[in-house]
Amino acid sequence: MLIGIKGLVLRVIPRTESDRLVVLFTAERGKITVCAKGSRSAKSKLLPCIEPFAYSEFVLYEKDGYFWIREGLLIENFYKIREDVTKLALASYFCEVLDLVVYENMQETELLRLGLNSFHAIANDLRPLPIIKAVFEMRACLLLGFAPNMERCSVCGRKNAASFCFSLMDGEIVCGDCRERALHAYFATQRSVNAEEERRYATQIYLISENVRAAVRYLTTCPADKIYGFTMPEADVPQLCKLCEDHLTYRLEKKLRTLDFYHEVEAL
Ligand SMILES: [Zn+2]
Repeated sequence: MLIGIKGLVLRVIPRTESDRLVVLFTAERGKITVCAKGSRSAKSKLLPCIEPFAYSEFVLYEKDGYFWIREGLLIENFYKIREDVTKLALASYFCEVLDLVVYENMQETELLRLGLNSFHAIANDLRPLPIIKAVFEMRACLLLGFAPNMERCSVCGRKNAASFCFSLMDGEIVCGDCRERALHAYFATQRSVNAEEERRYATQIYLISENVRAAVRYLTTCPADKIYGFTMPEADVPQLCKLCEDHLTYRLEKKLRTLDFYHEVEAL
């Protein structure tokens, strides 16, 4: 039986001397690994459609427990991502995140759309890279079901206060008055907390500006086609970026190699 499917290339792995395995993110079947026969040859017609970040249409068949690519047609390769090492690093980070959170047979149409929109944004300079990164991270959190609660203080319930802090452990905000209480409540849930841990936890409840709070609320409520439709003062951007990265990576509970690489090249 032949299967027609569109997929975004997340990862390519050598399989034999002549074949490659391609990890695709598809709307219908989530993550699917397919064999690209003969694709390690420079003459393979499949090469353009199995490049990293390529979005392609495939005709697959099943044999020996594997899916094999019979035909491939490139839809979009976001080639401008390759023009710049920081862009390449950011797109690779998005791929690693998607590879980590998408499973087989998981229907994730919106997450795929986010991935494609993010690649489009990187390739076409729709927004500065740190903003594209923050938007991807926060929208991914939303779609995966762990959007932070930015509405009200999680301790006293106030919506308005002189200042708010973001609590990374809880994914919630607490007002300035309740920060100490939230910290001690957190310590109480731990078996024992030494002074060093106490200091570390204290850095995980940090002050955020109203602009950052508003931007995160926007990103977790706006329609998918409006994700870049917000503006904020330049001075608040680093804090938004920190919060979005912290929140996603804390929940993924994994150190991402590509994220370290992105920060390395970003600093150059
Ligand atoms: Zn409060």
